[in-house]
Amino acid sequence: MKEIMEAHFRELDEAARTKKQKVAWCTSVGPAELLKGMGFQVFYPENHGAMLGATRMATDLIPLANAIGYSPDICSYLTADIGSYLKGESPISKAYPGIDGPPRPDVLVFNTNQCRDVQDWFNFYGREFKVPVIGIQTHRGVGEVTRAHIDSIADQLKAMVPKLEEVSGKKLDMEEFKRVVGLSRQCTDLWKEVLEIAAHKPSPLTFFDGTVQMGPAVVMRGEQRAVDYYKLLLAELKQRIEEGVAAVDGEKYRIYWEGMPIWGKLRELSTQFAELQACVLASTYCSSWVFPALDADEPFESMARAYIELFIVRDEDYKEEYFARQIRHYGIDGMIFHDAKTCPNNSNDRYGMVERISRRFDMPTLVIHGDLNDLRCYSEEQARTNIEAYIEQLAEKRGQ
Ligand code: SF4
Repeated sequence: MKEIMEAHFRELDEAARTKKQKVAWCTSVGPAELLKGMGFQVFYPENHGAMLGATRMATDLIPLANAIGYSPDICSYLTADIGSYLKGESPISKAYPGIDGPPRPDVLVFNTNQCRDVQDWFNFYGREFKVPVIGIQTHRGVGEVTRAHIDSIADQLKAMVPKLEEVSGKKLDMEEFKRVVGLSRQCTDLWKEVLEIAAHKPSPLTFFDGTVQMGPAVVMRGEQRAVDYYKLLLAELKQRIEEGVAAVDGEKYRIYWEGMPIWGKLRELSTQFAELQACVLASTYCSSWVFPALDADEPFESMARAYIELFIVRDEDYKEEYFARQIRHYGIDGMIFHDAKTCPNNSNDRYGMVERISRRFDMPTLVIHGDLNDLRCYSEEQARTNIEAYIEQLAEKRGQ
């Protein structure tokens, strides 16, 4: 993992420095396959945002973005990332000596399927670097995905091609594009299998492992090395199952995590749950990079479908049914909702969902107030106590 992530950042850096290849910045569920198929090196600012959170640099950098007018209430990936740019400090240069930070972009490409914040985020850099910002405006609150949805997104994808050709100086090669979509599909299928292996009792992996292992699925989908990586990982997980190795020793409770990770506190949370013999083994977040619709024979249409079928753009009914399927599939005893202060888009506890799930499954639930990156919004003591009390509640329910 370390090796391929380093290779990813070194290749990006080289492309930007030598100008041998153009660099596109892309949102995490943006049209990466089209960009890679057109020969761009692709950088994901949200991945950088998560690195800023995991290394705990974010909380100090966010105020710099606030000072130039970006509210502390908006996405803390955005504010941490802009703060990092303003200060010229990046976890990339700390982890990989010789790299100054994120590669300079030639074009910025977004998809608002996650939220509007990504568009504003990319527009900031468009103004800074004086490069084009192009994107897909998506539908939101989608119930059933219809032909009209798919056509509208596919048309927007096709409309991007002339601009991208102008930036790259090369014509779109359909065969190469299809090859990349095919690889992306393989990656996504393997990643899905990795996540689903957690249904085994006891689970061989946790949500906390997943937040690390998802790296290649996020930043290297469409590449052979991501496929190779997940084949290896799967084999390892299957072996763990054969040998009876559990991710959490003496697994007693199986928990679902809904919402963003709290990047700066993953280790503390993972340790606490393990001590309580509670395995947080599945999440909506890690599953957000599963795109079963991708199909190399229909690259535009299948990408359109893949990027509109996402959980985050769907309506409440879809989300509730999705949770129901996950709860049954993974044999979940309890569900924790992370209400992330700066990401309402990934916080599903605000419109009665928690109560509906509790009632429907006769399942205790817990809401943790925090944030993905801004640790000022998170009270560790309060969360610790709440988690402890929650696991006691699960124990009582079982009559233990
Ligand atoms: S979905 Fe949330 S975390 Fe992701 S970019 Fe939007 S506001 Fe930020």
